[in-house]
Amino acid sequence: MPRALLLTLAALLSACSPRVLSAEGWSFRIGDAAGEVRLVSRQEFGVCSPKLVGCTVPLGHGCLVMLDRDYFLNGTPRQRTLLLAHEVGHCLDASVLEYGHGGIGAQGAVYGEYYRPAVEGFAESYARAYVAVCGDNLAPLGYGSGPACALPDPRTVRVSLP
Ligand SMILES: [Zn+2]
Repeated sequence: MPRALLLTLAALLSACSPRVLSAEGWSFRIGDAAGEVRLVSRQEFGVCSPKLVGCTVPLGHGCLVMLDRDYFLNGTPRQRTLLLAHEVGHCLDASVLEYGHGGIGAQGAVYGEYYRPAVEGFAESYARAYVAVCGDNLAPLGYGSGPACALPDPRTVRVSLP
């Protein structure tokens, strides 16, 4: 991770919650996008509502992804995959698409009302595209072990129902 990003991350984390930086986690890299994932209590999200189970904070060409530790570790493999890949979708929307949301508009409503805003519709579309090609293998996102797989290109992700 570039030093500038690390410094930014450290500054942001200390503003959010001093415990987040030392929480259990891992890192991932997708093209030019570098991400740090931390498992924390959602009460510690700081910038996101504690009603959510994931929170992504864009940082230049990277992101800090916070996942609710209990939800992630106790979830089914599919729940974990959809959560992490959804948050990574937010990360790529910011770092690759510059919040273009893949032109998805309000179509994400097909997944449920929560996904009607384009920002959520895109992230969920990315998560479902991820499952379609990688299944529940999270190794490409830095978690656990598994084979490599060709991650969806955020530029070509579209709304799709399973
Ligand atoms: Zn989201």
